[in-house]
Amino acid sequence: MNKMYDVVIIGSGPAGLTAAVYGKRAELNMVVIEKELASGGQVLNTYEVDNYPGLPGINGYDLGMKFREHAEKLGAEFVTDEVLRIETSENGFTVVGEEKIYPTKTVIIATGAHHRKLSVIGEEELAGMGVSYCATCDGAFFRNKVAAVVGGGDVAIEDAIFLARMCKKVYLIHRRNQLRGAKTLQTQLFNQENVEILWDTIVEEIEGGDQVESLTIKNSKTEETQKLAVDGVFIAVGINPQSKAFDNLVEMDHGYIRAGEDCETNIPGIFAAGDVRTKQLRQISTAVSDGANAITSVERYLTGSH
Ligand SMILES: Cc1cc2nc3c(=O)[nH]c(=O)nc-3n(C[C@H](O)[C@H](O)[C@H](O)COP(=O)(O)OP(=O)(O)OC[C@H]3O[C@@H](n4cnc5c(N)ncnc54)[C@H](O)[C@@H]3O)c2cc1C
Repeated sequence: MNKMYDVVIIGSGPAGLTAAVYGKRAELNMVVIEKELASGGQVLNTYEVDNYPGLPGINGYDLGMKFREHAEKLGAEFVTDEVLRIETSENGFTVVGEEKIYPTKTVIIATGAHHRKLSVIGEEELAGMGVSYCATCDGAFFRNKVAAVVGGGDVAIEDAIFLARMCKKVYLIHRRNQLRGAKTLQTQLFNQENVEILWDTIVEEIEGGDQVESLTIKNSKTEETQKLAVDGVFIAVGINPQSKAFDNLVEMDHGYIRAGEDCETNIPGIFAAGDVRTKQLRQISTAVSDGANAITSVERYLTGSH
């Protein structure tokens, strides 16, 4: 007979690991399920994190390890397994993993998101060395430098406007001849004097040694290829929330689980924390905040004070 948990936390990125810390301190009977061998989530792939308060310039891997060590020090139990779905049961829920099932009274889904890749030569090799997926995170490293943003939706436009405040020059590279983003954002963008939009243009390659130095770009109408000198490239071609396993259960909005600051979903007893939920800003600090809030909501649910 599998034991019944108070809470099962799915995912051990910043949101799941913070929930583990708060959950142990609240003396909840819980387990954290992580499909990868290492904890930390997206943070593990971050060369340098410079906006997490108190730890300026910390390496992403070290930050992930610190979060996990903290939860382990408090006695949090971790298992390596991939959650396939959640089923409702008489007393709560059954979290179904590839390896095992986990009966529980409540669930925190903290499965995060993946930034879509361009899949061009140089992207992987120069990730963290001028290739970035997050202008809020890395923009400050490109002060007075030349940056390119790739994409044409809201995030790409917001990134270009944000970078225009600190960069000498910003290219917005878009494969079509019009942007998809909100009209108000487009107006703001067109007012930036140091932003140049390269329409009908695709990136074929990212070049550099220790740092990004240039892009090979191609105009898809004229087929003309040229090199563009840049110090950094921000790829904003979409984010995939890791929520597929739960789409038959909880309400979604464009793949994000619909939940507010209290992390409550439309199903009582199921909570969503971190990048996987609907929210304004997807960062480590906001994921950490969600982890804490989710446990408070779990406690309120378990004690009926909700
Ligand atoms: C390249 C890059 C650089 C970034 N730099 C910064 C920065 O400098 N500052 C900043 O604040 N933010 C930064 N971010 C954003 C930040 O990393 C995220 O906002 C944060 O990691 C979100 O935390 P999370 O716990 O919600 O999700 P994630 O970090 O995505 O963690 C989710 C975890 O869930 C696991 N998981 C997923 N599905 C399952 C499943 N079915 N079963 C079991 N486990 C599962 C995953 O393996 C992962 O470990 C960066 C992101 C990227 C990609």
